[in-house]
This record gives sequence, structure tokens and C-alpha cells, in this order.
Amino acid sequence: MIDAQTVALTRFVAGSQRLILPRPMHAIRGIAVSPGIAFGRALTLSSTVDNVEFRTVAPDLVAAELVRLQHALESTCQDLDQLVESTRARLGDEPAKIFEFHRSILRDESLIRMMRGDIQREHVVAEYAASEALQKFAATLRAVEDEAFQSKAADVVDVERRLVGALMGASDERLKRLEGPVVVVAHELTPTQAAELHRLRVVAFATDGGGLTSHTSIFARALGIPAVTGCTNATELVEEGDELIVDGDTGTVIVRPNDEARAHYAVESGRIAERRKALLAVAGEESITRDGVRIELLGNIELPEEIPFIFENGGEGVGLYRTEYLYLTTGRTPTEQEHYEAYVEAVRQSAGRPLTMRTLDLGADKYTQEHLEEPERNPFLGLRSIRFCLDRPAIFKTQLRAMLRASAHGPLKIMFPLVSTVMELRQAKMHLRDVAEELEEEGIPFQRDVAVGIMIEVPSAAIMARSFAGEADFFSIGTNDLIQYTVAVDRGNEKVASLYSPAHPAVLQLIKSVIKAAKHSSIDVSLCGEMAGDPLFTILLAGLGLRTFSMSPSQLPSIKRLVRGMDIGHCEWVARRVGSFEADRQVINYLRDETRRIDPEALVGQLH
Ligand code: PEP
Ligand code: MG
Repeated sequence: MIDAQTVALTRFVAGSQRLILPRPMHAIRGIAVSPGIAFGRALTLSSTVDNVEFRTVAPDLVAAELVRLQHALESTCQDLDQLVESTRARLGDEPAKIFEFHRSILRDESLIRMMRGDIQREHVVAEYAASEALQKFAATLRAVEDEAFQSKAADVVDVERRLVGALMGASDERLKRLEGPVVVVAHELTPTQAAELHRLRVVAFATDGGGLTSHTSIFARALGIPAVTGCTNATELVEEGDELIVDGDTGTVIVRPNDEARAHYAVESGRIAERRKALLAVAGEESITRDGVRIELLGNIELPEEIPFIFENGGEGVGLYRTEYLYLTTGRTPTEQEHYEAYVEAVRQSAGRPLTMRTLDLGADKYTQEHLEEPERNPFLGLRSIRFCLDRPAIFKTQLRAMLRASAHGPLKIMFPLVSTVMELRQAKMHLRDVAEELEEEGIPFQRDVAVGIMIEVPSAAIMARSFAGEADFFSIGTNDLIQYTVAVDRGNEKVASLYSPAHPAVLQLIKSVIKAAKHSSIDVSLCGEMAGDPLFTILLAGLGLRTFSMSPSQLPSIKRLVRGMDIGHCEWVARRVGSFEADRQVINYLRDETRRIDPEALVGQLH
């Protein structure tokens, strides 16, 4: 047990008090990643249990924070009660004592007083108070020159993780106490957290880190909620409960706005709604250039329920279904039946129109790291996407079975992500053949001629596109990854965001050669990275020969309006001119002028 002296010592080393001053309005500049303006109260979230950030709450929320701490202490103690019982039953008394000790830490009055004191005096969030008190207690134990004490420090850290985990998992409870719409503020948000926002009252988010094409940003665009990333210190400047305005068009977050700021953004928000209404008028029109060339416009989705938005916005079908979001929304490995039901729903919603399903793109920033004992040192270059699936054939085949079974209900295509060698494509196709044979033997219906394509997302695949074209039915160019691997810039790192450029001549050359290789082998090629929905690149991509674009559904109307004003002869001329430029700035300036010439409104409210 812990003696009073140790606890007293712990209290002594607890941090000094913070001065609480009135806090004026503040404007934070970041990266505009999802357009629109939102008004709400701040909910601050920590991204990991390992790194609990210093966060404070507004004075009127201090009492609620104390209640939250109390609930977490109780629920963690209950979990430990069960653990004590189950450990005793399975392993005997001795091991069960470890968890009894953990429980006693959480019931220690002095520690609880310390946590409560920090919340009351400094207005810190409960997880910070809990983490601080237990971390300091662990440090004190480590400093005692007695091995018995030192070894207890690890137990205290274990308890800290458990309690902080309970507090962080209880964001729903915190949401409930905030009235009206909520803006999530975090250092970083994982795609899993972003997927969770989907079902909550969240109207916007602002993060310290993150870039334009991080998966979290993509998800914000898909949900149509304004977002600003790369805010650097939003989590320090914002307190839970603060009133916020998020301007996802200019990348600004207004903290504690005054009346003037509120009035200004109310007018801006009205303007955006008007513009959106005007744009939607084009949704029902045909996607055809002035000189009669058809451009197919498709939508990217994460969940089947987004498919109606594609049609409402004038898209013709699904160009990219990011199936891994089933993992992210449930936080666990789905069963074959769960996969199957989601895919049948996608087939049903698509009603015979194009539907391209991508096999699991887990790894890197999505899902796997959070479930690994030892996270990868370099996850974006690690066991992600098709590599992960080939390494875990059981997981891969479960998904492939569900996809083939869903094909019995309507047309669909299958594509593999992040393929970097022809051998990977062959292995993936072999698994698909195995699964087809199994279904055949079991007498389960499926479509026998499902088209199988690949995403071109790494330079090795782009350079070898002609070889791949002989073995794939179609290509889909994933520029979000292709850019990061070509220019060696992490797509989610705000510190190098200015180097992450779709207009880099090296990226454009790769895109050009992939389109050419596909044409040479008479296979279809589309582009489904965020670049497809950026009007700045529409003329250029059409000029390079691209005829299928797949994008976030909300971007469809502005791209369609631009397409209807374009002339392919002119696009080809522009593409030739761009081919002679050596710097991305030159490309951007030139494309901006040419785009405005066709549609002066095309770039209004766009993210560059
Ligand atoms: C891409 O990399 O361009 C792509 C569409 O895939 P994701 O954004 O899901 O990585
Ligand atoms: Mg990708």
C-alpha cells in the first residue's frame, strides 16, 4: 500500500498554480482543409492516452469536470473489481493482488484530492489532472531508493493509462454538457476519431497538426463540415466550452468572437449558402464540354450512406469506395457478414451505376498502429494497404468474399490500393481467384467477370504503368499518395504542407505517363485523389486526356460547371504549355488565369 509520506511528497512536487486572467478574442490561422463556416462551442480532445495535453475548461464547466472525474474513477474501479475476480478465478490469489493494488491507488483519498484540487484551482480537464497526479506519484516512487517502491511505479503508470483511457472514451458525456453545435479542437485527430464525429453533434474541427489530404481532412470534406488544420497552438488557446467560429475557406478559427466578428461571419455564411444554391442548379445538367466531349464525374465515399449525396450533386456513380472505414467506425475487425451487408447496401444505393470498391487500405495513419504492441517506425512506408492484406490473407479473403458475394446484387468493380510491384498485383488476383473458386464450390452466386484494377499511388507503379496495364482492367490514379511519395512530403504534416504540391512538374509528368500508358493498352483510367475535385487542375487533367474524375461529392457541381465551359482543344493547348514549366508556382499561376477566363467563379471558396 502507499504510505501517507509518499503521497505528501507527491503533493509537494505537484505543479505551480496558473494565473487565470480574462481571455480576449483571438484569431488563429491554419490550413483551410474543408470549406464552409461553422459556429459552435469547443470540445477539446486528446489524441492519445500516452500524451495527455494541457487543456483547460471555462469556469462554468469546472463542476462538470469534477463529476466526470468521479464517474471515471468509479467506472475504472468497477472494471478493476471484475479484473480482480476473473484473475483470481483463472490464476489464483497472488496475481489478483496486482489489480487489488491498482484499485487501491484509485481509492487513495490524497491522490483524488490532488486531482480535484488541480481541476478546481487551474480549471484543467479531468484527464490532465488525473495524468499529472499519477505521473508525479510514479516519479516520486521511482526516486525512492528501494527497489520495492521503484517497481510500483510501473503499476501507477498502468493505472494512469486506464483512468485516462476511461476519461477520453467518455467524450459523449462531455458533448452532452455542451449546448448546441460543437467544434472539436485537438492536437491531431485520428481517422477513427474523425469517423466517430460523424454520429455526433460536431459541426467543425480545428487541429494543431495535419495537412490538406490527411485522411481526417478528407473525412471532414466528405461529411461537409468545415475544418482547419495546422493551427499549431489551438489546443493551448482554446478552452473547452469557448465559443468558436471556424472558417474553412480561409483557414481561420476565431476564438471567443466579439459582436463584430459574429456579424461578419453570419453575412459570409449567408453568401456561401447562396453560392452553393447557385452551383447546385448545374447538378442535373450533362457533364460535357462545349465541343462535345463527355467527362465522367464520380464521387468518393467512405460509407454507403454517402452515395445519395453523389447523385444530388450531379455525379454519375462511385469512383472510390474507401471500404476501410467500416474498421474505423467500429474500431474492430468486421465479420464477413458485416462487410457483405455494407457492400450490398452500396450496390443497392448505386442502382446499376458505376461502383468501384477499393480493398482495405489500412495501415499508415489508419487503424493498425493503434492496435499494435509496437507501432511501426515509419508507417507510411510500412505494412500498409495491399501489403497489409497480403500479409494477412485471412482478413483479405474475408473482404474479397464479401465483395464477390455482393456482386451478385449488381455491378461493381474491385481495385487494389498502393500496389508497387507487379508481383503484388498477381498475388492479390490469386487470392481473388481462390475466393471465387470457394464460392463456386459452395454454390454461392457472384458475378464472374468483375473488373479488377489498381490504384496508381506510388512512383514505381506510375513509372511501370505499361507493365501493369497488361494485367489490370483499369487504373485509378491516387494523387494524394502519389504526391507524397514523389516529392517525399508527408501528406499529414503541416510543417511541410507548402511542399506538398499537386502542381509539381514531376507529379504532372507521372500523371501524364499513366494516362498515356492506359490509352496505349486501351484500359480505363480515372483520377480519384483530391486533385480531381480541385477546379484549378480540371483543364490541365482534361488536356492530358483524363475523362473520368472521382472526387468528394460536394466538389461535383463546381467541377461540372467548369467542364461545361471548357473546350478540349484549349485544354490540350494548356496542357502542352504546362509541360514546359519547371516550377509549381508557374503552373499554379498559369492555371489560375486560364480557369478564371473560362469561369470567373470557379475558384471562389476553393482551397488554395
Ligand atoms: C489517394 O491516395 O489519392 C487516394 C485516393 O487514396 P487515400 O486518400 O484514401 O489514401
Ligand atoms: Mg491513397
